[in-house]
Amino acid sequence: MSKSLVVITGASSGIGEATARKLSAEGYPLLLLARRVEAMEALNLPNTLCRQVDVTDVKAIAAAVAEAEQQFGPVDCLINNAGMMLLGLADEQDPAEWQTMFNVNVMGMLNGIHVVLAGMKARKSGTVINISSIAGRKTFPNHAAYCGTKFAVHAITENIREEVADDNVRFITIAPGAVETELLTHTSSDAIKAGYEEWKQGMGGVIAPQDIANAISYAYNQPQNLCVREIVLAATRQQ
Ligand code: NDP
Repeated sequence: MSKSLVVITGASSGIGEATARKLSAEGYPLLLLARRVEAMEALNLPNTLCRQVDVTDVKAIAAAVAEAEQQFGPVDCLINNAGMMLLGLADEQDPAEWQTMFNVNVMGMLNGIHVVLAGMKARKSGTVINISSIAGRKTFPNHAAYCGTKFAVHAITENIREEVADDNVRFITIAPGAVETELLTHTSSDAIKAGYEEWKQGMGGVIAPQDIANAISYAYNQPQNLCVREIVLAATRQQ
């Protein structure tokens, strides 16, 4: 049987890119969304539509999903992975950075859910996988606003999971510890970036995007009547 459409946000690097490669190798048709469309197109994956979409723009998500559904049929899985981590001290950080993180990490996720959920409920089948973080379960220095967004991802995912369980739609939280990606590079403070790198070295290095892609694949590929509610994974030596 041919496989159903999977949508991945933030597929132009890191965890999203690794997940696109993994699910494509498993035979899923894909819709990949991010701002750097050329990076997604460079992956050169079969049965894959790449669209330049900012996840804060719900209409742009809806248009891209409609186009992909014309080509591949209804969305069976949405992976809300797009995210920004801008670390800073609460009294020093530019509030515009907090706004960006809430817009992308929280509103971007809700926008994606808004676009696909009615169809999944109507079909009585579907899966939404939200990429949170261990920073959505405990706090870390310099992480106040980022942790706020990821605690929100955990809360919203679990809330909607309960809301749509009876519609046979699954909501899954994936909570990685530190992963080697571009995520830290957008933080403006060199001192905070240096401290983070030191923390990573202190635990003997962190896990890889592929490790998260494997967890996502495991959760999604369970039968529809089994919902892996949450996976938490990190380097063994991470606190
Ligand atoms: P990357 O920086 O490599 O990837 C982030 C992705 O998000 C990019 O593809 C970027 O694409 C996309 N993105 C950012 N803003 C937008 C936007 N407005 N609209 C659409 N896409 C956007 O980092 P990771 O792979 O590490 O991050 C992926 C997710 O994993 C994030 O939610 C992050 O919080 C989470 N995570 C990461 C951890 C880590 O240690 N790396 C640990 C725990 C969770 P583009 O710039 O092209 O738009």
